[in-house]
Amino acid sequence: MLHSKPREDNYLHKGLRKQLVQGLREKGIKDERVLAAIESIPRHFFLDPAFERIAYEDRAFPIAASQTISQPYTVAYQTQLLEIKKFDKILEIGTGSAYQACVLAELGSMVYTIERQKALYDFVGQFFFLKNYPNIKRFYGDGFEGLPSFAPFDKVIITAAAPFIPPKLVEQMKPGGIMVVPVGDDAGQKMMRVMKKPDGSVHEEVLGDFIFVPMLEGKNK
Ligand code: SAH
Repeated sequence: MLHSKPREDNYLHKGLRKQLVQGLREKGIKDERVLAAIESIPRHFFLDPAFERIAYEDRAFPIAASQTISQPYTVAYQTQLLEIKKFDKILEIGTGSAYQACVLAELGSMVYTIERQKALYDFVGQFFFLKNYPNIKRFYGDGFEGLPSFAPFDKVIITAAAPFIPPKLVEQMKPGGIMVVPVGDDAGQKMMRVMKKPDGSVHEEVLGDFIFVPMLEGKNK
């Protein structure tokens, strides 16, 4: 399978990544560690070779099972909001291509990521590049349930449009933890940041507008 074979990352790809990162800086991303992670990860590896030439444009692309790889700006924005520290334990909902998971892993965190589409979960299992990240653990399941047996988490990131803030995921956050989640429907979503205070109470912030594929209940075989 194509996804299992190493691919080339040449000076052209590296140059395009530098330009992408410069563009993200101009769009307001300030966390240099996040930008360095994006500069180091070959995004074209995550896409079909047909998209190789445009892999470093700041836009979302289709992947398997009619899902998408998020736009680099969105990945950078959500990651920046999480204020990742080394060894943070992070729950990600919506593995998709695993690009976002690799950005989090590159920052030295422990990533627990859930995908509900079996085909996509299996496809990513073949992906040669993930061998670089033993700190990513993948699960096939329903993100609304989270991973109670691995909780609590320092950070939670949802990369699909949630109809509401999933209560079980708030329960699985550590006091002092942060969740970043786009909340809304097909018409659009607001990025929200949920902070769990040391006393367990929750503070919500409403941020900018985004468009994600929907977060759906249950698993898909
Ligand atoms: N983080 C991904 C973005 C993928 S798009 C990336 O970097 O490529 C969102 C993904 O969320 C899709 O793959 C979709 O199947 C998945 N998803 C939607 N609802 C889910 C749920 N309830 N549990 C787990 N994954 C879900």
